[in-house]
Amino acid sequence: MYFSRLATYFERIEGKSSRLEITQILAELFNELNAEEIGQTVYLLQGRVAPLFEKTEFGMAEKTVIKSIVSSLNIDRPYFEKENRRLGDVGKTVEEFKKQYVSFEEKEMTINEVFLELERLAKSSGDGSNDIKVGILSGLIRQLDSKSCRFLVRIPQGMMRLGFSDMTIIDAYSWALCGSKQFRPEIEAAYHVRPDLGYIGRLIKEKGMEGIKKVTPHIFTPIIMMRAERLSSGEEIVKQLGECAVEPKYDGFRLQIHYSKKLNEVRLYSRNLEDVTLMYPDVVEGVKNEIHADEIIIEGEAIGYNPQIDQFLPFQETVQRKRKYDIEEKAREIPLKLFVFELLYNSGASFINEPFTKRREKLESVIDVQNNPKQNTIIIAPHTLLSDAARIEKTFDEAIADGLEGIIAKKLDGTYRPGARGWNWIKFKRSYSSKIHDTVDCLVMGYDTGKGKRTDFGIGAFLVGVYDEKEEVYKTVSKIGTGLTDEEWREMKKRCNKLQTKTKPAQYAIDKTMEVDMWVAPGIVVEIKADEITQSPNHTALFALRFPRLVRFRDDKSITDVTSFSEISALYTKQEA
Ligand code: ATP
Repeated sequence: MYFSRLATYFERIEGKSSRLEITQILAELFNELNAEEIGQTVYLLQGRVAPLFEKTEFGMAEKTVIKSIVSSLNIDRPYFEKENRRLGDVGKTVEEFKKQYVSFEEKEMTINEVFLELERLAKSSGDGSNDIKVGILSGLIRQLDSKSCRFLVRIPQGMMRLGFSDMTIIDAYSWALCGSKQFRPEIEAAYHVRPDLGYIGRLIKEKGMEGIKKVTPHIFTPIIMMRAERLSSGEEIVKQLGECAVEPKYDGFRLQIHYSKKLNEVRLYSRNLEDVTLMYPDVVEGVKNEIHADEIIIEGEAIGYNPQIDQFLPFQETVQRKRKYDIEEKAREIPLKLFVFELLYNSGASFINEPFTKRREKLESVIDVQNNPKQNTIIIAPHTLLSDAARIEKTFDEAIADGLEGIIAKKLDGTYRPGARGWNWIKFKRSYSSKIHDTVDCLVMGYDTGKGKRTDFGIGAFLVGVYDEKEEVYKTVSKIGTGLTDEEWREMKKRCNKLQTKTKPAQYAIDKTMEVDMWVAPGIVVEIKADEITQSPNHTALFALRFPRLVRFRDDKSITDVTSFSEISALYTKQEA
């Protein structure tokens, strides 16, 4: 397919806010594309040339995109910038200029040709790469028609923002196959195992639903991580699970480890599937030396450790290891220990559908269970089989006394359910002094510019919400104006600056009374602690957080990992009277 035709599809989608209509247009598009083009188009829709978990990024700021445009069309930069401010979008501005520009180079290019050029652009790095990037984008602008240029320049800026989620693409795959969303659950399950929408699209085109049913874990493609349900007593846990495996709940950060001995390669993925390998060289070394397997995918919690006093560090200290600079120095100061608790794949065999006991047995065979934090980096999470409520409570108390967050109870015959929060894992955490037994992870949706002292920060309050998984919209639960340190306010503003937009994102459901000065596109996840959840007519989630405070930024969580509408309803019902 020609890129110009793809642009007409993008244009049709751009004008729509109904999910169903977008799904149908995408399905129509997918039916017209071949397998390779589907893969490429889906990456471009996400503003990328590779799946989200791969490091390849465009690294092109608006400034550089504008440089490419003005050099390509030979126009005056201040004039272009003035028009850009008027129209408020580089895509529309370049389209206008391109309409008036006569180019002898203009020609039809296929999606594949444009994709390969964009891939070359994304992959150029090092000295002089900026000029190469500008050259590639200028060349494409000269060759493509005006409408194609509108969408082209948005891609390297990650500004496609056609207003739909990965789930809409999955629905569209189903629609393309059968004219309804009927296959969504199966396609979604496959996507949780291999969260690469390009791969899933190619597979559907080539093998249909038969291919989808056979998707298994793949080394160096992170699996969407399983999550735990919550309960708050030993009694409830026994009622739910009967005999179960009880493990300490470490408060560090979760890592999924992919290791190929043959390739001598380790890759570490965070909860939101970011490749964080370079940040944790000590864990990489530990895996190579202490894991005895040819090809493996395991999971664990990494936590900072102080060898002098033989003690684990609180989250606030561990988190300092998440950095892009001075990595080696910090690794010496705060060495990490990785408590492994899951095995998902081993040398060609998937373990996700095996019961917990079998996964654990295999895990114990690839790592020395005698490892200890003084000498080793990789330690197997200790666990005890318990079926007695009082013993579970005791284990919980001991974990708290050891400075841990609580315990995780695991169903003995439970499978590993990628991407799902389910009852196969149950977390039992220290209850706070408040009535609610857990914090709430919220999406930052917008902010008001500050008054009084806050004018210095440029932000006085921010609006947060939870995710309604049925309607696929974010609904508000609080406008937070206190409980942040000066430094946190500054950090919040800095993060908001990157994502702010004047128009309300399509996936936000807002009551008029909660309108803000500036909207923030989905991207910032914060953990909020509140004293109570109350009912509220002003918030679209119908609940409000009382006395909310910021606990921390949850960079390890993706925007669909925020607390769901059903979870907040459950927290509301469960809070103490
Ligand atoms: P929380 O905010 O309560 O830490 P979360 O929202 O990050 O939880 P959940 O799935 O709700 O994620 O809680 C499970 C988390 O607990 C896992 O993501 C993992 O990072 C951590 N964890 C610590 N120890 C264990 C363990 N032994 N087994 C499984 N998960 C563990």
